[in-house]
Amino acid sequence: MDYVIKGHDYGDDIISILQLFYPNSVYTRIEAPSESCVVSRLENDKIYTSLILKGEEIQNNITPITADTDVKRELKLSLYKTLMAHHKISLPWGALTGVRPAKLATSLKKTEGSEQAAALVLKNTYFVRDDKIKLALEVAKNEEKALAKSIPGSVGLYIGIPFCPTRCLYCSFTSYPLDKYREKVDEYLDCLKREIEFCGYNLKGTPIESIYIGGGTPTSLDERQLDYLLTCVFNNFDKPQEFTVEAGRPDTVTEGKIKVLKSFGIDRISVNPQTLNDKTLRLIGRQHTVAEFYKAFETASRFGIGHINCDIILGLPGEGEEEVRRTFEGIKSLAPESLTVHTLAVKRASRLKETLEEYSLADFSLMDRLLGLSAEYTQNMGLIPYYMYRQKNMVGNFENVSYCLPGHECLYNIQIMEENQTIIAMGCGGSTKTVDPATNRIERIFNVKSVDDYITRTDEMIDRKIKGLNWRKETKNG
Ligand code: SF4
Repeated sequence: MDYVIKGHDYGDDIISILQLFYPNSVYTRIEAPSESCVVSRLENDKIYTSLILKGEEIQNNITPITADTDVKRELKLSLYKTLMAHHKISLPWGALTGVRPAKLATSLKKTEGSEQAAALVLKNTYFVRDDKIKLALEVAKNEEKALAKSIPGSVGLYIGIPFCPTRCLYCSFTSYPLDKYREKVDEYLDCLKREIEFCGYNLKGTPIESIYIGGGTPTSLDERQLDYLLTCVFNNFDKPQEFTVEAGRPDTVTEGKIKVLKSFGIDRISVNPQTLNDKTLRLIGRQHTVAEFYKAFETASRFGIGHINCDIILGLPGEGEEEVRRTFEGIKSLAPESLTVHTLAVKRASRLKETLEEYSLADFSLMDRLLGLSAEYTQNMGLIPYYMYRQKNMVGNFENVSYCLPGHECLYNIQIMEENQTIIAMGCGGSTKTVDPATNRIERIFNVKSVDDYITRTDEMIDRKIKGLNWRKETKNG
């Protein structure tokens, strides 16, 4: 889709609205109107937006502005109204383009004074659908309750293990297939140990609220490697209030590894089937079966893992209501403490993006029905929504939601979304986020994404933290 902007420089914001109506398109800025484009113009205290098709303006919107107007917001809304009128559809999240609708709901509750007033703004200003307003406000309320357990002045820690048995079709994370990288795992862990020791030294005395070991699939490590990593973590940090280890790929879960986790007192893991249909699992390159998922879940339960989360994805290629119902029925029979329901996103760095034309993906209306099923099943299972986010290029522009039994909210997930807490990330692909509580200013420090770069440039990762966090260079080992 081509677009023209005049009198302002909010091109990225214009694109964010175009993405809602024309997902996965190419958006090109042009200087003068073409046969088919949108025009967004700011002139003489007015915003003019036009949709031009076959050389003719077929829809427009004119919005007057004053000195108090939030120009960026009104430019986006003007384009949203233009496209909504032409396409005669209203999108579930209306003109909201941000990834954190619950964060907006929380802030509107504060500025508007009540939940009802916040709901009115979401409905009348942003055109959000009633069921989504209810969801955002419910998540905001449950987040707030869970955050009452948060430790003031604490930080969260993330540790990345970037290895997986194979690469999933839709994956855009830092993940390297084990069969090619097995020889590098020990070397990677040695470098990670250095970064952990350095962070442990600098964080001495700072309360650690949560530790999250993600990736990749941390349980791709063998028992000895897992023990090595966790020994290093506990030698350098005090026991946190919450400790999660991703065991995303069921084929990596063994009795021995679960015993290692338990020996360190870890009892929150995530075992992710994504779907309970073998045909789809093969299609998305997971290399494990539904039976292996059930076995992994049973092993974790039998050894007393107290909190098992499962992740599933709606809108996987070839899946309709029948397949998704089968997945929910299977999950329901296991009664996990929490369930995260994603909607498929076509990410730039994924194999799915490269081979998109080979697959038939759920359309808007199917995805809407699948999310309806999700709301129905999770309610029947006694789960409450407690954290959510949206991503760009998600089928139907919907949302990812984590549900849990009351009292089982994952603080780390909430803190990441609410951006209230500093999260220190270690390992390849990690992104440290610092939050200044006085100003709410957020800064990020990135680690490199490639395993090879991480191994050869560990000192540089440490230097980036020294600069970004004003930390000392020494570790306890000198
Ligand atoms: S398990 Fe997760 S990190 Fe690993 S390849 Fe699949 S999506 Fe990527």
